[in-house]
Amino acid sequence: MDFNLNEEQRMIADAARKLGARFGLEYWRDHDKRKAFPREFWKAVCAAGIGGCTLPEAYGGSGLGMLEMAVAIEELARGGGGSTVGQLFMLNPIFGGVAINKYGTEEMRRELLPPLCSGDLIFCMALTEPDAGTNTLEITTFAKPDGEGFRLNGRKHWITGTASAGKMLVVARTKKPEEVKKRTEGISLFLIDVEREGLAHGKIDKLGTNTLDSSTIFFDNVYIAKHEVIGTLHNAWNELLDVLNTERIVTTSGLIGTTELALKLAVDYANERRIFGKNPISSYQGIQFPLAQAHAEIACARLMNYKAATNCDSGVPYGVESNLGKLIASQACDKATLAAMQTMGGMGYASEYHVERLWRDQRLFRFAPVSEEMILNFIGQHQLGMPRSY
Ligand SMILES: Cc1cc2nc3c(=O)[nH]c(=O)nc-3n(C[C@H](O)[C@H](O)[C@H](O)COP(=O)(O)OP(=O)(O)OC[C@H]3O[C@@H](n4cnc5c(N)ncnc54)[C@H](O)[C@@H]3O)c2cc1C
Repeated sequence: MDFNLNEEQRMIADAARKLGARFGLEYWRDHDKRKAFPREFWKAVCAAGIGGCTLPEAYGGSGLGMLEMAVAIEELARGGGGSTVGQLFMLNPIFGGVAINKYGTEEMRRELLPPLCSGDLIFCMALTEPDAGTNTLEITTFAKPDGEGFRLNGRKHWITGTASAGKMLVVARTKKPEEVKKRTEGISLFLIDVEREGLAHGKIDKLGTNTLDSSTIFFDNVYIAKHEVIGTLHNAWNELLDVLNTERIVTTSGLIGTTELALKLAVDYANERRIFGKNPISSYQGIQFPLAQAHAEIACARLMNYKAATNCDSGVPYGVESNLGKLIASQACDKATLAAMQTMGGMGYASEYHVERLWRDQRLFRFAPVSEEMILNFIGQHQLGMPRSY
């Protein structure tokens, strides 16, 4: 068991730290205000070889692993982007990269991985539906055979990045629940163009994550060609879980970087701010303890996330670790950003001081991409051996 990063990993962390700092807090404040996609940032991440970090060199990637990517995301997020950086990695190296590289055809890999690695092609994933959020298996979006291909009908919501994306990973039923033995059967994945006849999308107004739009999607008889099936037709559940569990790893990395950034902003502020007499407010335990608690929790979440990433890279199960890491990281980050705002008093509420944006953005991850209640349900049932409670 080696808890130290190797030289290559330290070099990636260093490059990511410099790149994150080059964009910095003001870049993200401006993009948040304008609700603008952080295109230049993502292009720079890709130019540095980090966007395609986990993908094979033959397709424009860097041929490294999930652990290297996790380390890089933390540093990039810490530079100012916060948890949104984790989301950019979800969209591209995960929804696009994991799906295509592990489950796509050679033709898909050759066509789509180079523009993914260069940052020219953005991806999104359409899983959640108005009547199937936490309970993914309730999805009703259906792809029905039509000649050589399929016709897709249904509705999705809360789909991140749709307005900037060229390709969408769609999760749909290809068999009705009554036609299959287990509810996990009859699920398929498709990789389709966002610009396509019958596909319409509209933005949802929301609290934060302003640089990435969230959309409702309508599929009205959308044609899908046979070659756009990705993974195993009718039986893509485990392939989807691989996408979702790697999604947790990049989410956690983004939350670790956010937590460290919020703590630094709060500590720097508190060390300067004097209200009663000579001592700075940072000398009060009431200020110190919540920040110290979040620091301890995020350090533990990082270890669990590195274990998840290492297991993933070694081809051994990593789902439990990726969920445990995400649970603790999302709670620690929520506490850290709240404590940072409290530490700064009124200035914590001012966008000029940045922590309000970090808090708004990270709040999402208490319930998405998987809610903490569902992780606790999983632990109760599968790790502790208690009955299913729902
Ligand atoms: C900004 C944003 C971006 C998103 N991006 C994407 C995306 O790109 N692609 C995509 O497909 N989806 C996306 N989502 C959807 C997200 O994954 C879902 O919101 C999330 O899975 C929760 O589903 P829900 O909102 O339907 O909540 P619900 O399923 O309605 O749950 C509501 C509450 O009930 C709790 N609950 C439900 N069942 C149980 C139970 N059995 N035991 C205990 N508690 C329970 C949940 O934990 C939650 O707190 C996004 C959402 C948001 C807000």
